[in-house]
Amino acid sequence: MKPVIALVGRPNVGKSTLFNRLTKSRDAIVADFAGLTRDRHYGEGRLGPHAFIAIDTGGFEPECKSGIFKEMAKQTRQAVAEADAVIFVVDARNGLSAQDHDIAKFLRTANKKVLLVANKAEGMQTAPQLAEFYELGLGEPMPVSAAHGQGMRDMIDLALEDF
Ligand code: GDP
Ligand code: MG
Repeated sequence: MKPVIALVGRPNVGKSTLFNRLTKSRDAIVADFAGLTRDRHYGEGRLGPHAFIAIDTGGFEPECKSGIFKEMAKQTRQAVAEADAVIFVVDARNGLSAQDHDIAKFLRTANKKVLLVANKAEGMQTAPQLAEFYELGLGEPMPVSAAHGQGMRDMIDLALEDF
């Protein structure tokens, strides 16, 4: 079975853009992948030598507006539980937020391989701008640009280095 990568992060950091970039929008037929639930967004990706399944999170309307944070947290937990590796996406332009800290706290206890990725980093001087993300306690943030397709190969190589 192909390794499963969960894309997690607060709203608007570029998870779906990354998902579309990695999977070229081809939806996986979920029935082909035993053990994965149906209420999330799965896609098949291939990059260099790696073939994988990606899970997007946060793209689903909650039943009611007030339930959105609960629903996001639930989707994140479920996707992480199903994943072999987690790509935690933060926003290189908007910087750290309280929600990033909450997600990081959960991920540090999840016992999964986590790769911290700073998206929207195209054309940025990354070293000074990304320093604050070390606070998340998840190691060095990797600059990428999902919109421009920058850093994709290094990101997947690292996320799947054990597979
Ligand atoms: P999600 O809520 O995490 O799924 O984020 P989306 O994929 O919907 O993207 C949120 C916004 O960020 C959109 O306006 C995207 O066009 C923009 N975005 C995504 N990736 C990049 C990127 O690499 N660079 C820049 N500058 N914008 C991006
Ligand atoms: Mg999305």
